[in-house]
Amino acid sequence: MSRRAVNDPATAIPVLLYHRIATSSDDPYAVSPAAFAAHIEAIVASGRTALTISQLADRLAMPGELDERSVAITFDDGYAETLDAVRSVTAAGLSATVYVVTGSIGAPGMVTSDQIGALVDMGEAVEVGAHSVSHPHLDEIGRGEMVTEIVESRDALRALGVPVRSFSYPHGAYDRSVRAAVIRAGYGSAAGVKNALSHPGDDRWAIGRYTVSGRTTLEKVGQLLEGRGAPLAWQAERLRTRAYRCVRRFGRERARSGAGPVSVAPAVGVVGETHVLALGAPVAVRSLDTRRGFADIELPPARSGAPYRGLAVLVKNGDEPLGWLGIEAPAVSTVGGDVLERAYLDQLAPTGAEAPSGAEASIAAKASIDTQAAVGAKARRRPASAPPGAAPAFVSHVVTTCNQAATAVRCVRSIMASEGRSGDRGGSGDKDGSGDRGGPFEVVVVENRPTHSTVREALDDAFPGDDRVRYLEVPIPGASRARNAGLQAARGEIVVFTDDDIVAELAWCGSLRAAFAGRPDVACVTGPILPLELETSAQVLMERFSAVGDGFVRRDYSLAHPPEPHEQPLFPYTAGYFGSGGNCAFRRDVLLALDGFDRALGPGTPARGGEDLDLLIRVVLAGETLLYEPSAIVWHPHPDTMEVLSHEVFSYGIGLGAMLAKQLVAGPHRVRFVASVPRGVRYLASSGSRKNAIKGVGYPARLDRLERTGLAVGPAAYLRSRWAERRLAALPGDAAVNGRAVGGGAVGGRAVVQ
Ligand SMILES: [Zn+2]
Repeated sequence: MSRRAVNDPATAIPVLLYHRIATSSDDPYAVSPAAFAAHIEAIVASGRTALTISQLADRLAMPGELDERSVAITFDDGYAETLDAVRSVTAAGLSATVYVVTGSIGAPGMVTSDQIGALVDMGEAVEVGAHSVSHPHLDEIGRGEMVTEIVESRDALRALGVPVRSFSYPHGAYDRSVRAAVIRAGYGSAAGVKNALSHPGDDRWAIGRYTVSGRTTLEKVGQLLEGRGAPLAWQAERLRTRAYRCVRRFGRERARSGAGPVSVAPAVGVVGETHVLALGAPVAVRSLDTRRGFADIELPPARSGAPYRGLAVLVKNGDEPLGWLGIEAPAVSTVGGDVLERAYLDQLAPTGAEAPSGAEASIAAKASIDTQAAVGAKARRRPASAPPGAAPAFVSHVVTTCNQAATAVRCVRSIMASEGRSGDRGGSGDKDGSGDRGGPFEVVVVENRPTHSTVREALDDAFPGDDRVRYLEVPIPGASRARNAGLQAARGEIVVFTDDDIVAELAWCGSLRAAFAGRPDVACVTGPILPLELETSAQVLMERFSAVGDGFVRRDYSLAHPPEPHEQPLFPYTAGYFGSGGNCAFRRDVLLALDGFDRALGPGTPARGGEDLDLLIRVVLAGETLLYEPSAIVWHPHPDTMEVLSHEVFSYGIGLGAMLAKQLVAGPHRVRFVASVPRGVRYLASSGSRKNAIKGVGYPARLDRLERTGLAVGPAAYLRSRWAERRLAALPGDAAVNGRAVGGGAVGGRAVVQ
C-alpha cells in the first residue's frame, strides 16, 4: 500500500454511512428523505463513480485499478426504510451497500427477509453485507461470542440467498482479533467508521467511512465529495479510537503480552490520548468543553521562558471527562481549533459523532452516554442526582496543611467556588451553614505542626467573618493524626479529604454530592488527581509515576464485584488504582467505625505515606463499596525538581511498603493477603503491570530503583512508626488540638479521640 497516496487528499474516497432515511425528531442519525435526495443529487453532480464496498475493496487491493474519483454509499443496521432509499440510489445510476443486523430482520421498523430478497434482486449495483447478529461492541465481548456474531450473521444472510462478501463493525468498534476473525470467516472486506475519508492506502478490512446524520449539512456532504472536511482514514495500527477502550485494554493487553510499553507513533503532530504522557516538557495543560466547540488555544511561553513543546488538553463533555488529547506543538504560539477538533474526532469522539458545537451538544452528550452504556458491567454510569425534595447532604471538607498559607488559601477558595457551583446543579435552597444554593458545607483546615505558621492569618484575611471556614491545630506531627482531628471536628455526614496544594475543578463538589446522593450503597468516592501543570521534566515524570485509577472510567470497587484478576491481581491491595488521599470522600459514620486513618502511617511518620491506601483497602475489606467518579477532578501541582520528585517517589515506596507490611502483620485479612503475594510480586515486577506500562519508555531506572528500595525498607519503617506511635499516644499532650472557626467562634470543644 502506498504511503504517498495516504498523504494525498486528491485521492480521498468518500464512503458515506447512513442509518435511517426517515423524518424523525428523536433519532439524531435519521436523515430526512428530502435531505437524502439532495445528497444523491450532489453525488451525481460530483461526477464520482459509485462503487459497492466489495468493488472498492477489490480496487484497494489493486491500486492501479482504482478510479480516483470514486464514492460509496452505505446503509447500516437495516431499517425498514432502507429499501426505498436504495431504490432512489439506483434510480440515480449509483450503487449502494446495505449492512444488516441479522437478529433484527423482520423486527418492527426493520428490514424483512422479503425486502432483503428485493435488494439482492437489484443486481450488481446493490450489495448486502452482514452487520453482526445483535450489534454488540465486538471488541468488548468474549472471543467465542465475537466469532459467533461474525459467523452467524454471515450464515443467516446466506440462508436468504445473499452472496455475503462484506462485514460492517457494529459501532465501528474492532480490534486486531475482531479484524482477524472477520478475515477468517471469509469476508473479503469490512467497513469501519472512523469518520474519515477512505483512500487507496486504506485497510480493506476497516474501510474508513463518514457518518452522515440528520445534523450533517449539504455543505458538509459537498466538502466530503471534494475530498475535504474529514481526515484520511488512518492505518490499521492506529486502532485505539476510544479513550475508554484504550484505558480499559491497556493493562489487560500489556499484562497478557508481557510486552514493553506501547511505543508512540506521532501522526500529523498529534499523539494518542493515553500517550499524552509521552510529550516532552514543557507541556501546556488546558481543558476544553466540547459543548463550547473548539476554539484556538494560545500558547504563551512556558514558565522557563522557552516555548512549549506540547499541549495536553483534558476534553470534557459538560462535566464528564472524555480523556486527554496529547498534541505535539513544538514552538508554536497557537494550536488551531481545527487541529483540536481533528484530534478529538480521531481519538475521543463517541462513535458516529461529529465534533459537537452549540446546539448540537445535547445530541453529542446522548451519543456519549450511549457509548458509555455500551461499555458493559463496569461501564461509567452517570451519577443520579438527588431525588427531588431530599435534603442535600452536609459536606465537611478537611484540608490538611503544614504552614503553606498561600496554597492553602488557593485550595479553600477553589473548594468554595466548587461548592457554589454545585448549587447550580439543582441543590435545594439555603441551609444552615451554607450561603450558596448548594448543600450546606464547611471547610476545616487542619494545621499539622503549626510552628510559626501564617495559615490562620491568611485564612482570616481571605475569608473574613466566614464561619464556614474553620481552622484546627494539631501539634503532633502526622498527617493521619491531622486528618482524624478533622474527621472528629467535621459536622457533615460526608467528609471529604484533600491536601492543601490541590485545586478543585469547578464541577468537583457537585460530582461528589451527586455520587453519594445517587448511590446510598457507596461509602467512599474517589476521583482523578490531574496535573495542574507540566512545566518541567520532573512534573512529567511525576505524572507518569502517579497516573492512577482507570483513567476516566467510572467504576465500583467492592469485594462483591472485584476487578478481574488479570486486571488487578493484588485487589484489594491495589488501592493506588482506585484513589488516593488527595481526593477522597467518605460517609462519616463509615469512617468513624473504621477509626479513621492509621496514625502509624502517613506523612510525618517514619512510614512517610500509605495511610490513604490503607484506609481505602479497609473500606473495601469492610464490605463497603468504593466508587471511582471520573468527573470528581482535582488538580495537583507536581514537584518541579528532580530532587523533590526523587524524595517523593522514595517516600511513596516506603509508604507502600509500610502499608503492605501492615496488612501482612496486622491486617485482619492477612490470609487473603499472603495468598495473593506471589501473584502480586510477579505483577509488580513485570513490565506488563499497568502502572509500569503507564510509566512508559524512558522512565528513569533510577526512580524505579528508588521506589523499590523504599518498598523494601517500608516494613521496617512501619515497625519504627508503630513504636513511635505507641510512645506518642502515651503522652498527655496527644489530645491537644486547638481549634476555632476563622470567622470567630470556637470549633465546639469536641474532644479529639485518638
Ligand atoms: Zn450499526
